[in-house]
Amino acid sequence: MVKPKTQEEIELLRINGDLVSRTLAEVGKVVAPGVTTKQLDRVAETFIRDHGAVPNFLGYDGFPASICASVNDVVVHGFPSDYVLKEGDIVSVDLGTLFKGYNGDSAYTFPVGEVDAETRKLLQVTKESLYRGIAAAVAGNRTGDIGHAVQSYCESFGYGVVRELEGHGIGRDMHENPGVPNYGKPGHGVKLLDGMTICIEPMINAGTRGVYLARNGWAVHTSDHKKSAHFELTVVVRNGKAEQLSTFDYIEKDTSINFV
Ligand code: MG
Ligand code: MG
Repeated sequence: MVKPKTQEEIELLRINGDLVSRTLAEVGKVVAPGVTTKQLDRVAETFIRDHGAVPNFLGYDGFPASICASVNDVVVHGFPSDYVLKEGDIVSVDLGTLFKGYNGDSAYTFPVGEVDAETRKLLQVTKESLYRGIAAAVAGNRTGDIGHAVQSYCESFGYGVVRELEGHGIGRDMHENPGVPNYGKPGHGVKLLDGMTICIEPMINAGTRGVYLARNGWAVHTSDHKKSAHFELTVVVRNGKAEQLSTFDYIEKDTSINFV
């Protein structure tokens, strides 16, 4: 049984959601050809700490950095490294905060310079599928309704929906119940209650849905090495309409991200 959050808890999650959103925008400002993913990590960690919060990814199960930086065929959990981003790459930046005992967690996939039309489409569709998932995150629905909304939209473009990883509840822990898969059947799964806080995070592959784990035990790659996109927002389930606790507005107004 998943307990809905109190209004006080939701406000603390909203503060974290806002900080995570602004941190992603700071990172987005420096994404460019010639920049290393380690530099992105430094920008995020500095911004989070400057705001009195802690990067909750750092040390999580031994994760060595403050962000996941997943380039091209890396779906999620890429380590920031000395890899130099180049024109046409995409980089998924996933990051989180811990502030006043509560967590934030969101992700955005940035194009590096100009990307080809096929890649822009993958980014557009993945982001739109997240919004479709959010629209299904209403009290009385089930997690399968969210998954179905994401899956049916993405598969209609021939994309692969990753099954091995999923969204999750969020609160005092970054990962709480329920799991929120990106696939599913309407009316199946855990029932959503007003006040439940969840992260929805479609991981969508340009080709096959198959993935494998890199030898470092973290980075998840597409089996066919085609690109993969990942967008994540935190929302609170409400009667009638889910409410976003994090947003891409800071990113999309502050930078020249244009794949829409
Ligand atoms: Mg997450
Ligand atoms: Mg995340």
